[in-house]
Order: sequence, then C-alpha cells, then structure tokens
Amino acid sequence: MSHAALIRLAGITKTYGSGPVAFQALRGIDLVIEAGDFLAIMGPSGSGKSTVMNILGCLDTPTDGSYEFDGVQVERLSRNERALLRRHYLGFVFQGFNLLARTTALENVELPLIYRGEPLARRHATARAALRQVGLEGWEHHTPGELSGGQQQRVAIARAIVTRPTVLLADEPTGNLDTRNSVEIMELIRTLNREQGITVLMVTHEPDMAAYARRVVRFVDGRIESDRHQPVPSTTPPQAVAGGEVAVGTPDRSI
Ligand code: ADP
Repeated sequence: MSHAALIRLAGITKTYGSGPVAFQALRGIDLVIEAGDFLAIMGPSGSGKSTVMNILGCLDTPTDGSYEFDGVQVERLSRNERALLRRHYLGFVFQGFNLLARTTALENVELPLIYRGEPLARRHATARAALRQVGLEGWEHHTPGELSGGQQQRVAIARAIVTRPTVLLADEPTGNLDTRNSVEIMELIRTLNREQGITVLMVTHEPDMAAYARRVVRFVDGRIESDRHQPVPSTTPPQAVAGGEVAVGTPDRSI
C-alpha cells in the first residue's frame, strides 16, 4: 500500500455570511491524509465536521487556504473540473442512505455509471459486481422499501464504490442503523479500506464506530483539537461474528 500524501489541507478557513453575522465555521485546518488511511472525524455538533467534509468532497469551497488532492490544487479547478474530480475519485455514503425510492438496487448502483456515459451491458455487469461485493447478490431487483436499513446502506455503499473511487466519504454511515447492522457496515467499510485500499473519511459520533478507523481526528470550534493514530483491531470482534443480539463494545484491539 502506498503511503504518499493523497490529501493536504493547509490553513483552510470557512466563513459563512459576512459583516456582523459572519460565522467562522473553520478556523485554520491543516491536515495531511495518506493514501489508504482510514479517518474517523469526531467532535461536538457545530464543530465544523460537515463543513470540512463538504470541502474535502468538493461540494463546497473554503474561504481561504489550500486543498491539494493527489497533487492537484483544487481551488484552481473550475466548477466543472471539481465535478469531474468528484465523479472520478470520490464516493459518498450518507446517514439517510439517499437511494431513489421506486428504483431497484441495481438501478441505484448504476446511476453513477449512467452519469459517466457507460454503455448498458458494461453498466449492468459492473453494478452487479459491486452489489456482490457488498453481499447483496440476489437482491438486485428489490427496491429500497423491500430492503432492511442495513441492506439499503449496502446498496448505497455499492453505489459509492461502483466507480472505483480513491476516497470514500461517509457521513454518519451507521447513524440510522441498529447495533448489529452498524457492525456489519463497519466491517464492510474496513474491508474496502484494507483490501481495496480505498481511503476512508468518516464522520461519526460513536466511539464504537470510530474504533474501526486507523486515525481519529477531533474537531472543536472549527479547529482540530486532537489527531491520534490508534491500534487497529486485526480481527472481527467475537461478539460481532456471532450475530443475533449483539452488544457492541469497543472492538477488542488486543486480538
Ligand atoms: P458539525 O458537522 O460538526 O455539526 P457544521 O460543519 O455543520 O458542524 O457547522 C459548523 C458551524 O457552521 C455551525 O455553527 C453551523 O451553524 C454553521 N453553519 C454551517 N453551515 C452554515 C451555513 N450554510 N450558513 C451559516 N452557518 C452555517
């Protein structure tokens, strides 16, 4: 696995509004992220987590500072070029799954490939492979309403990875899931990080979920308060393998 810096944020600030109502959501963020890393972004509500994720995801631009992605200065890109960067290098997963309702799992996963203009046959094959990768073989023709929350999030993850992104940005991916499904989704995200080398940036409030990351970055008042690497559990916590009624503690890092 490569350990080159993939992302460099330097002196990033974000001010919403102007004059007396101006609010500084980010107050100077410096952050270097290596290819293949797995970050949990934590911190109280209003500390700037979503703002920094939107900037990292090229959905918003900073007020000041520099964002370098794989050697490219993002602030020098046009809006269209940023959209291309997003489409080709980034995948997004949200708390609320954000699937199209009356649309099958397969069609949901195909959407990013349609935007890319891929031909039908290749689209089907690639989307099916992504669904297989998240453990949803046989569920291709079900609509979100026919799937559990955990399965819907798997479809959303398949949609995020179907374009083979470099980075997966996940905003509270287990926020709407029960404990058992949360563990399964975190196992899946960890596998994508470890086996596909996808860099993962995940906002979470839950220490149990942050425990899956290699690194925990904590935001407070628009600044990084702490940035710690943590030992990664090498195997699935035993209580998660058992399934059923799972009481999840922090995954045991000693095994
Ligand atoms: P978090 O994700 O950590 O909860 P956010 O990044 O969403 O924090 O927000 C940081 C601060 O910026 C909050 O105080 C929020 O009210 C403010 N904020 C976020 N978006 C806007 C906006 N579009 N306009 C004005 N203020 C905003």
